Amino acid sequence: MRNNTLRLALVALAGVLAAPVVNAAATFTIINTNAPGVGFNDLSPRAPVGGNTGTTLGEQRINAFVHAVSKWADTLDSSVDIVMDAAFVAQTCTPTGAVLGSAGAITVHADFANAPLPNTWYSSALANKRSGVDQDTRPGPAGADLRARFNINLGQPGCLDGVPFYLGLDNNHGPLIDFVAVLTHEMGHGLGFQTFTGSGGTGATLAGLGVPSAWDHFMLDETQGLTWANMTDAQRAASTVNTRKLVWTGAAVTAAAPGVLSFGVPALIVGGPAAGAASGQYVVGQATFGRPLSAGATTGDIMPISQVTAATGDGCTPFGAADRLAANGNIVIVNRGVCGFIVKAANAQAAGARGLIVADNVAGSPPPDLGGADPAITIPAVRVTLADGQRIRAALTKRSRTKSGVSATLTVNLSQLAGASTSGFVQLFTPNPYQQGSSLSHYDTGASRNLLMEPAINPDLTHEVTPPFDLTFPLFQDIGW
Ligand SMILES: [Zn+2]
Repeated sequence: MRNNTLRLALVALAGVLAAPVVNAAATFTIINTNAPGVGFNDLSPRAPVGGNTGTTLGEQRINAFVHAVSKWADTLDSSVDIVMDAAFVAQTCTPTGAVLGSAGAITVHADFANAPLPNTWYSSALANKRSGVDQDTRPGPAGADLRARFNINLGQPGCLDGVPFYLGLDNNHGPLIDFVAVLTHEMGHGLGFQTFTGSGGTGATLAGLGVPSAWDHFMLDETQGLTWANMTDAQRAASTVNTRKLVWTGAAVTAAAPGVLSFGVPALIVGGPAAGAASGQYVVGQATFGRPLSAGATTGDIMPISQVTAATGDGCTPFGAADRLAANGNIVIVNRGVCGFIVKAANAQAAGARGLIVADNVAGSPPPDLGGADPAITIPAVRVTLADGQRIRAALTKRSRTKSGVSATLTVNLSQLAGASTSGFVQLFTPNPYQQGSSLSHYDTGASRNLLMEPAINPDLTHEVTPPFDLTFPLFQDIGW
């Protein structure tokens, strides 16, 4: 019989303080592993803020932590103490960006009593809850269920300068980073919002043992038509960067999504008699200029322009006669590069185009928005990825001088939830290229309203983890909480 426990990481840390938080549904113990005078033990004086009555920096950090833990303790149900190893440490920083925190399960377990699915890894907090037994009885922080680390330098020079954590409990963070939201997010990872498969973008199972994670049974690639539990490593690696095509099929999340997310997704819809394999809905970046997609659908045949040289750029100079004929009444596709987006849009508009598609000239997805400002531009414009641009162009080879038989509709798909696919399944974060620490174990950034478990902390988050505010707890229900 194989070992049914895997230790994800072992870090030796000094135990300093254990603070229990007891609620009706679950009990959490926080083991503060910061050294005296550091992090949670920082004695720098502070004035009380936003309902946080602490008078030192460390005390305020602990109060915020207890506040966030209480939300999870009220929401989750477990007869086994949930133990968390927490500390403030240095994390990756630049003057304009920073890792706010990181967290995860310390051990995973399979085939414990009352496991939701056989031969499947679960985070220890969930394995403990299901079995009613502490699966890892090692003492101190090593035997904790979750490990959480927070950025000790946030707001200092060189680390998101001037934007520290807001330590109030009232969500009145203004331009600062709301620490309670960050804490709630990081605990979410450690409690189960995390796949153990595919780390590094490889698609490989944990430690190469071939055992799927709980998530793998619910992660469906809509292009491949397979869940992660039924894929090869190579198929999962492709799925990891299949932007907005990797979705969560769990019943609780899917049922809750319409009550949390709003309808309306910006889209390019390609069809028509000659579209063939290019038919379908495309993910687009929106333009900051021209007619907004929300103002109504714009439709026409997709036409490339032909009078292009590498030096002058695609669409960068006024269109010649043949290109004016192609553009007139149609939707022009050009490649990104050489000149600004508003120059290309102005030239297309002057030639009579109804809209513009800019195909990116570097790989990556989702496509970023098109920047620029020119009030004289009144046609809509979108950006598609390099790969999507190539797919569309491949369908245009049999065009006449004025028609391609491949139609484009630039619109907002009002029947699609923002953050879910056209099938109604909520999307996971799968940008291309892979983003270490962010890809897979988050909801997609296209979600609206914003969700707690997106890869960045948005300023409009509540501290809630349940519908109608959030979809974190429904995912926990899907995996067996
Ligand atoms: Zn996260």
